[in-house]
Amino acid sequence: MASQAPMPNSDGRVRVGIYGLTGCAGDQLAILNDEALLLSLAQLTHIVDFGMASSEAGVDDAPLDLAIVEGAVCSKRDLRVLRAIRARATRLMALGSCALFGGLPAMDAQTPLAMRRLAVYGNAPSASLDESLPAAPLSDYVMVDYAIPGCPIETRELADALARILAGGEPLRHDAPVCADCRLAENVCLAQRGDVCCGPLTRGGCGARCVGFGQACRGCRGPVDDPAFDRVALSLMSQGLGKEQAIAAMQRFSAPAWTGERLAGAFEEDPRHLGVGRKPKPPRWTTESIS
Ligand code: SF4
Ligand code: SF4
Repeated sequence: MASQAPMPNSDGRVRVGIYGLTGCAGDQLAILNDEALLLSLAQLTHIVDFGMASSEAGVDDAPLDLAIVEGAVCSKRDLRVLRAIRARATRLMALGSCALFGGLPAMDAQTPLAMRRLAVYGNAPSASLDESLPAAPLSDYVMVDYAIPGCPIETRELADALARILAGGEPLRHDAPVCADCRLAENVCLAQRGDVCCGPLTRGGCGARCVGFGQACRGCRGPVDDPAFDRVALSLMSQGLGKEQAIAAMQRFSAPAWTGERLAGAFEEDPRHLGVGRKPKPPRWTTESIS
């Protein structure tokens, strides 16, 4: 994206809201656990809403300079909330892999929702289940201006992005795969001992934390800009995985980003695979039907 003008600053501080849709809330928790980031946020911005950190309800219709949204859209309620946030916010940041890619809630995205519902709940009628939608990233429904990957996010990456945004710039995007982090950390490559590792096609920036602890990368930060999907799939298959297992391993945290049509579209419209700046797809439900 082109560099943008500094954020509006009428009362001396940028108005920020932090929200969660469907997910584990781990990204909001990561913010709460980072005291230095919290202090900076409190000093440099006006936190209008942060439900997880407050016992008071937010001001629902107050305008926002920046909305930070965690979680996937998994229900009609999520969609109503997301659209209301987007309508209030000058800019919107997708926070974490559920918001960017659908994340774990979407790991079985290729199976129709009705089939999954039948398998788990049978035919019992349920008004709450009728509210369900196939898990999807925010960029399926609204314009996303910024994206911070991770499951959970690296808070230093968020802090750096916020500093750049507040100064009128753009967040940096980490382009190299986790393998590059591994080299910098001087890790022994786990693939060489036969582990199934998704590092070659996963966006780095995590410092290859899992490999450092002896665990292969599971791909929690989603795909790099130009993932060598076929080559990594073949490599995983040479380590004994079947084709379906190899594909499932690579898509665990980002399945909606990998479906054929969407992947082709992502390359064409947004080679960064983060959903940033991607125009939302036409809504699958009208406003009337979800109200
Ligand atoms: S352990 Fe995984 S992430 Fe690290 S270099 Fe090997 S394949 Fe890449
Ligand atoms: S090594 Fe892989 S699974 Fe672990 S934090 Fe990094 S991207 Fe996520």
